[in-house]
Amino acid sequence: MLGKMMYQPLLLSGLIEHAAQYHGDTAVLSKEVDGTVTHSDWLTVSNNAKRMANGLAALGLKPADRIATLAWNNRRHLEAWYAISGSGMICHTINPRLFPEQLSYIVNDADDQALLFDITFLPLIMAIKDSLKGIKYFICLGARDDKVVAQLPETLFFDELLEQSAAEFDWPQFDETTASSLCYTSGTTGNPKGILYTHRSSVLHAIALCMPDVSALSAQDVLLPVVPMFHVNAWGTPYAAALTGCSLILPGPNLDGDSLVSLIDDYKVTVALGVPTIWQSLLAAAKNRGSKLDSMTRTIVGGAACPPSVIKTFREDFNCDAIHGWGMTETSPLGTMNQIKAKHKSLSDSEVNRVRESQGRPPYGIQIRLMDTENPEQVVAEDGHSQGNLQARGHWVISDYFTENPEAVTEDGWFDTGDIATIDADGYMNIRDRAKDLIKSGGEWISSVELENIAVEHPQVKMAAAIAAKHARWGERPVLIVVKEQGSSVEEAQILEFYNGRVASWQIPDKVIFVDNIVLNGAGKMVKNDLRREYGNVLLDS
Ligand code: ADP
Repeated sequence: MLGKMMYQPLLLSGLIEHAAQYHGDTAVLSKEVDGTVTHSDWLTVSNNAKRMANGLAALGLKPADRIATLAWNNRRHLEAWYAISGSGMICHTINPRLFPEQLSYIVNDADDQALLFDITFLPLIMAIKDSLKGIKYFICLGARDDKVVAQLPETLFFDELLEQSAAEFDWPQFDETTASSLCYTSGTTGNPKGILYTHRSSVLHAIALCMPDVSALSAQDVLLPVVPMFHVNAWGTPYAAALTGCSLILPGPNLDGDSLVSLIDDYKVTVALGVPTIWQSLLAAAKNRGSKLDSMTRTIVGGAACPPSVIKTFREDFNCDAIHGWGMTETSPLGTMNQIKAKHKSLSDSEVNRVRESQGRPPYGIQIRLMDTENPEQVVAEDGHSQGNLQARGHWVISDYFTENPEAVTEDGWFDTGDIATIDADGYMNIRDRAKDLIKSGGEWISSVELENIAVEHPQVKMAAAIAAKHARWGERPVLIVVKEQGSSVEEAQILEFYNGRVASWQIPDKVIFVDNIVLNGAGKMVKNDLRREYGNVLLDS
């Protein structure tokens, strides 16, 4: 017997409708590419999204068309997002820091019909324009600009399109499993793979993101998504923000520590989200300027392993909870989040700190399991120390890639993440490494993440990457690539000594190589492939 309750499809347009109706005057602030700050609110975002939906339709764009964006976190980008997905088109956010060949590959693979861009990216577009096959419209996110027209005469301008479009628009209702947006993985190996989210998966993900044991987002918050909208939809925050009606601060292009401290202090940000490298530079800038980040109650850290020292500094020096989470493009990305349970409240501070170092546990909607690396049919015990391949399933986990690609899920319906992890009896998961980053020394695994976390605890180390270098006797041995703090004269021996007592002696790196800079990818993660290519043979050479 079926129940007798209303059925309404879970559509992204419902989120912006809610924000407009119940939180219309709540602030949405946007740092623009020219450095100015625009003050808007949810009602205006909603009205502009409707106008833009009319504008896109008037151009002949239709449901299921892929509409690409190459843009920072700003209000026009947000309005375009709701216009595109809300009217049944698919919003394809592109990571501008991909190689130009990868950019053209994904625009063509997605068969994008229009490209909305911030003026910053005009040179990038000009460089690849001839290889973009299907783009019918280039739409610059701004007012008319003659410099843009001089280079790309066919450009349309977002602000003009808004002015010319009717205000009246009713969001269409359609099947909730309709595709809403498309993100590509950064393709560190092989071509990038497309992940096609549905309205249903995105709405459920947004609800989950707000839950108290995830980010506890509410209408009292001022949210700063530092994570870019082109990195897994800013982890779903623009949707969660509309759902809760919190205030939203869109930080634009400048994501350096100083700019972020100013935004946080000026606009009383209560919660921010980003990758660990962002927080490392933010903490340094806050200390330099004597800011205590007073308004911040919590920060959500994910995308790469967060060094325990960062979590500790946030809590002890800034009275701010650093909540460690794990996820992937294929999981929308929310997979696990580290919030404690009631039973942890009786623990000492240092014990609680230990609990909070892991990547946390799944919220309702996601399940995880570990499978044996040698025997893929065999489930690994959840005892907190046995390692296995991490697999996930749930309402916002991929079922298939966008175009021909390897099968996304196992025969019994789980997505294999490519991460190696442990899970304890309370469900807390600890990422040991990406399978491809693990270092296999004489048949034993060494976690590069663990070696990096220890290195950055050293006061004179700014950034560190541990990689596997080929070794004549052991197969592979760890080598540590280090960027020193400015002005530091720390030497190899001092860093290696720092490992004594922190890991088993056979896990201590064989060598430390000092470099000026470690390249980060578009998502702010260290590009370890390049480091392996460059330094993978250093132990053989010597
Ligand atoms: P990319 O492969 O381009 O980095 P994603 O952004 O989807 O694409 O990254 C997902 C991967 O990032 C995960 O598989 C995992 O290896 C890593 N990751 C994400 N969050 C964490 C975390 N908190 N700790 C360690 N690794 C993480």
